[in-house]
Amino acid sequence: MSLTGLCQVCEAATADHACDRCGRAVCDDHWNGSARACSACDAGRS
Ligand SMILES: [Zn+2]
Ligand SMILES: [Zn+2]
Repeated sequence: MSLTGLCQVCEAATADHACDRCGRAVCDDHWNGSARACSACDAGRS
């Protein structure tokens, strides 16, 4: 899976991670490494 392109949350930074839950490519700022999820998915969990 290619990770080239922009973060699909902020669309302002280069995406460095792929969310295991939704598959979105996200930047460091929108990645929760401990949850292995993007900030959008992590916000949906308590
Ligand atoms: Zn971002
Ligand atoms: Zn996600």
